[in-house]
Amino acid sequence: MTAAVVIGLEIHVQLATRSKLFCKCPTALTTTPNSQLCPICAGHPGTLPRLNTEAIRLGIRAALALEARVAPVSSWDRKHYFYPDLPKGYQITQHHTPLACGGQIPVWSAHGLVHVPLTEMHLEEDAGKSAHGVDPEDRLTGIDLNRCGVPLLEIVTAPTLHSAKDASAAAQNLHTLLCALGITTGHMQAGQMRMDANVSCPTGVTPAAPRVEIKNLNSFRFLEAAIDAECRRQAQVQQAGGAIHAETRGYDPRQNVTFAMRDKESLPDYRYLPEPDLPALVVTPEMLSRARDTLPPLPHQVGQHYQRTWNLPFAQARSISVAPDLEHYLAAALPQTNAPQLLVNLALNEVARLANGRPWNRLPLGPAHLVALVELIHVGRLSHTSAKALLPCLIEGGEEPELLAAERGLLQQLDAQTLDKLVAQVLATEAAAVARYHLGKLEVFGFLVGQVMKLSGGRAEPRTVQAALCQRLTRRT
Ligand SMILES: [Zn+2]
Repeated sequence: MTAAVVIGLEIHVQLATRSKLFCKCPTALTTTPNSQLCPICAGHPGTLPRLNTEAIRLGIRAALALEARVAPVSSWDRKHYFYPDLPKGYQITQHHTPLACGGQIPVWSAHGLVHVPLTEMHLEEDAGKSAHGVDPEDRLTGIDLNRCGVPLLEIVTAPTLHSAKDASAAAQNLHTLLCALGITTGHMQAGQMRMDANVSCPTGVTPAAPRVEIKNLNSFRFLEAAIDAECRRQAQVQQAGGAIHAETRGYDPRQNVTFAMRDKESLPDYRYLPEPDLPALVVTPEMLSRARDTLPPLPHQVGQHYQRTWNLPFAQARSISVAPDLEHYLAAALPQTNAPQLLVNLALNEVARLANGRPWNRLPLGPAHLVALVELIHVGRLSHTSAKALLPCLIEGGEEPELLAAERGLLQQLDAQTLDKLVAQVLATEAAAVARYHLGKLEVFGFLVGQVMKLSGGRAEPRTVQAALCQRLTRRT
């Protein structure tokens, strides 16, 4: 039954603007109800909406990143319904002509890259929030209008998803992409990304299964669990000989079941009307090309680049692709090192843990010093354990790793016997140079010191090498 399921998603994303869609009220998170509103967003009669151009810019940026076709002219429409947290009695949305059509969500996993097709995306204002049971007797409902007029982008996928896991992966990849491009701050707990899932389970008996919509899921885990719960419910109803009706349902995470909210017969007629107080939204070719010019590579493109260039495993490439500050750091460090995998391991495990959420561009341990530390480990002058012991100090202090390691006596030295062997080896392989030295070309000495240092993997001390070389060379004469 689950294999036949057909799922489409409607995803509401809060755009990362400082002010609301049609007024100057702030959109910042606050715990004080009704502290961020004005006559416009509170829906007082006689007020006029004033469009926030930053929301348009972010909407276009999202449309281009998702490869959708932006409409040169799109509409603003009123969606009428009565609800206590919607004082105007209607919501301004884009019903007749949305901002953009088509497009796709790139979904990147360890198995490769797939694309989930989109039907459209449009801008709209959010409604307020009702808080039930705000009094001890549980009789009152509080209304908070802070969210009224907050700009949303609604992104609608085609009904082409076939499992709860795929639906959740599509939503997560969309979240990653929009956050990385600064289109949303994507705070799930604060309701900055909310998902509705349309689920139908066609069977041999009813190939065109009715669509059941599960409303307002605000975590990827709930999205996946709600779809699975709804598939189970539909299977049970059908096995018992019942019929599935088109309806809107909610999800109760405590019971892990969906519950009826309203059926198709009671679906509201929104009486869409063109918004008379706003001109149509015109997107000029200049606006499009400006948006295109500022579009960085998308997270999956960044990740695939790291996979290919540095041969990193998927999980590491993915971590890098979703953190632009880490990516900049590694882009500066990796070309300088002889041990890229060692550097990435150290960065993603040890350094990230010690940084404890601080952005990479604010760490006193810059890319050059991390490279220097990795080289010390790579050539065997510093053990991995010693490097880890130095890291807490390096992260805070910005000191030169080699100096710090020397200060603490952590650099590994060569014992005299091994050094003597290396010197002998160099003298044997560089016989021509040695001969020139004996003919009085004393500048060859420096070259021989260099060869021994190289062979020692940097573990030898230059002065000790000079002494050992001197001894060997004079022994021969
Ligand atoms: Zn306002």
